[in-house]
Amino acid sequence: MKTELVFATNNPNKLRELQAILGDSYHVLSLEGIGCHVDIPENEPTLEGNARAKSEYVFSRYGYDCFADDTGLEIDALQGEPGVFSARYAGESKSSAANMEKVLRKMQGLSKRTARFRTIISLFLEGKEYQFEGKVEGVILEHKQGDSGFGYDPVFQPIGYKESFAEMPADEKNKISHRGIAVRKLIDFLKKKTEKKPMVYQKN
Ligand code: IMP
Repeated sequence: MKTELVFATNNPNKLRELQAILGDSYHVLSLEGIGCHVDIPENEPTLEGNARAKSEYVFSRYGYDCFADDTGLEIDALQGEPGVFSARYAGESKSSAANMEKVLRKMQGLSKRTARFRTIISLFLEGKEYQFEGKVEGVILEHKQGDSGFGYDPVFQPIGYKESFAEMPADEKNKISHRGIAVRKLIDFLKKKTEKKPMVYQKN
């Protein structure tokens, strides 16, 4: 029997990716899939708080086991900005181009360019919360490079690589990315939980 698990997102790409990795034991539902059409508030000052706010919202109002993610780009020379404000750094239009322009402007002339992407996944399972972190260290480039990916990919170069995230094939990025790492931790955890579950024998 499949266990139902909500991913607090309406992003079909994220949903498909997770369902494919989790395989047959879990049926992953989106927010729309459970009839939740609200934009869950993300007003917390940390990634941890925002991820928890989303998973807890679903668990407490809909009673489903649920996980949610939140990601931020943390630039050391900007004291961790844009961090939780990554999506709307340059305003509510959430424009990636404008966000990158703002980062490049603020970083102009700075030699300290270290930064990281960090993802937190919060899982509510049987009323208990678990968190999983994934991060990737890198530097902010002086100019945009490449045009694949999304968000800040063209200005972020992971340590040990000559390409920006936007110059890498998606599968290569997924192997080393913040989200890839956090998701694999979540999946390992869920797989171990499934293995430990006692067998349920059904009578006909
Ligand atoms: P979210 O929490 O996944 O919605 O991410 C928040 C924001 O962080 C996004 O709107 C992007 O601007 C940025 N971001 C998250 N993940 C990535 C990534 O893998 N590459 C570039 N930017 C990202």
